[in-house]
Amino acid sequence: MSDPQTEPTLSSKKETSARKSRRTSRRYERRFVAQSPYSSWLVTTVSGLGAAVMGAGAWSYVYGESFKKAAEVAAAASDASPQSFFRVEAVPSYILAAGAALTGLGIWIGTSSETPLRVGAPGIAMERGEIRRMAWSGVSKIAWEAAALALLVEGDDETGQAWTFRVPVKSHAEAVGWILREALDRVPGVVDIDKDVLDQMPRANPHAGEKLDLEPLQVVGKRDALTQKIISYEPEARVCTRCERIYDKKSVPETCKCGASLLALRTSEAAEGDPNQEERA
Ligand SMILES: [Zn+2]
Repeated sequence: MSDPQTEPTLSSKKETSARKSRRTSRRYERRFVAQSPYSSWLVTTVSGLGAAVMGAGAWSYVYGESFKKAAEVAAAASDASPQSFFRVEAVPSYILAAGAALTGLGIWIGTSSETPLRVGAPGIAMERGEIRRMAWSGVSKIAWEAAALALLVEGDDETGQAWTFRVPVKSHAEAVGWILREALDRVPGVVDIDKDVLDQMPRANPHAGEKLDLEPLQVVGKRDALTQKIISYEPEARVCTRCERIYDKKSVPETCKCGASLLALRTSEAAEGDPNQEERA
């Protein structure tokens, strides 16, 4: 194919497919809203009661309204004080208000004040106003605190700041299941929990949470995990598929710090004539 007109089309096609494959490499995370620490029957009962009382209030308002005219006529005829009549008429609105309050209480105890969590390829994140995230490469320890019934996560956040947080199993059971699943898949070395305790933990339910598709990992401006050299050009970077540590393609080690083999990511340059190879070893 030396036709000068087809040549550029072919190469651009190749480029697009390369870009496409990079883009379609699945990257997602799950978002978990905290569950109420109160049992679900209580939430259902209170909300249901609220709705029923509101209905009763509305009904008695309509019922009262239809008798209002008659009552007014009767009130005008006899000398009954209008005050007492109005007080009786106000009852439906009290019932409505009580129903609304109950419904509100149901909503309040049905939602927890715990912050939403995200678990997925980029790590574990907490949504408190803005998103604070700990990449898998930043996690140094995941343990179980039996007294608090919570998962303890220690490490550094994305900005390098030390960060420790707890994920209570009562309000975030689904997130706990997914944190453990992802951590055991990606950075098994940091999970410091006995096997029999692990067996008691919530499972990672494939339907749990809200699955969010993510953009491909942004590598430009990030540092090589070994040499700390800044990546300035995307094709220079190689990313560990497990923990998302970033390496310069010239200095990809055989094994990532997370334990994953990086042999498939190593270029011939890195494998053979890499002068830094020995320094690191
Ligand atoms: Zn890795």
